[in-house]
Amino acid sequence: MTHHDRITLILLALCLLTLTTISFADDTFLNEAGVEHNQAKPTALTFIGTGGPELSVERSGIATLLTVDGQHLLIDAGRNVMQNLYEAGIDPREVTNIVLTHLHNDHIEGLPTLWMTGWFLLGRQHPLTVWGPVGTKAMVDGMRQMYQFDITHRSDAFNDGQLLDIEVIEILPKQKLTMDNGVSITAIEAQHNDGNPAFSFFIEASGRKILHTGDTRLFSDLINYGKKADVIVSNVLAMPYELAQKPEMKTVVSKLMTIDEAVTLFTKSAPTLAVYTHFVTKAIKGNVDAFIENETRRQGYVGPLFLAKDGWKITLDPIVTTSPPPSAEQLPNMDRKKHYQDNPSL
Ligand SMILES: [Zn+2]
Repeated sequence: MTHHDRITLILLALCLLTLTTISFADDTFLNEAGVEHNQAKPTALTFIGTGGPELSVERSGIATLLTVDGQHLLIDAGRNVMQNLYEAGIDPREVTNIVLTHLHNDHIEGLPTLWMTGWFLLGRQHPLTVWGPVGTKAMVDGMRQMYQFDITHRSDAFNDGQLLDIEVIEILPKQKLTMDNGVSITAIEAQHNDGNPAFSFFIEASGRKILHTGDTRLFSDLINYGKKADVIVSNVLAMPYELAQKPEMKTVVSKLMTIDEAVTLFTKSAPTLAVYTHFVTKAIKGNVDAFIENETRRQGYVGPLFLAKDGWKITLDPIVTTSPPPSAEQLPNMDRKKHYQDNPSL
């Protein structure tokens, strides 16, 4: 390398450094803990679907989207996930990484639509990667079997069948996953009775910590992780006291977070924000949200609480804020392939 080359390289490096500094100065800042956060692409949780298996006009199948630095990770893929991503203003083609808490049908029944319709209708250009407990490979193999007709008949010069490949990674308790964007997820063995193996996830993303309980009853390790979390997202089971005492409800009560258990988790952990999602409710008369909120307060949790609704979002940079989904007028039609959307003259 000549002396001239060396000077050119140093100048180039200085230019890059300056450019980096300028772009950082535009959209990042230091929060109170000194952790750098990106304002243009804030870390966010979008509650794509917040219901249980019950049919409800207000709450669809469970699915939660973690977005870090513009990259999405979908946690569970319940009923209606494709439509709900769209209504939340998320392009379903950009959701290719999916992690499953467990294999109960209400957590996976939206997966086939996301996989298949995103491909042939919307022209998704990337295959899916699915993480989940032992049994996920067999489930995905079964799904491929179920859709074998479409895999065979819809694959052509315009629909590349290889994009339907799914990389499956089965995860074990205590395993720590590290995603491409630096997000780390610790799989905590949950207590979900007939849904085991099931996981709660402790997520560390750009300096923020989230505990997502998945489906589980309360167990002591969950409180230990909860104490470290900025946000706790908990499943919730709500029903009148008399119903909860009935023998036929024993299985349900033994595998989900009752309100008194959630109150213990929230109170002992004291997060910046406690969130309910995956509302499993039985025989509650009147306003379900009011019932759950009143019970939570009556049983003694006094901290910040958010009852998630479909499409609502929590932004974790710089502070925890909540925001509603976009209005219907703001949503594009998504009935054509990306190629045509990018070339409106066609
Ligand atoms: Zn379950």
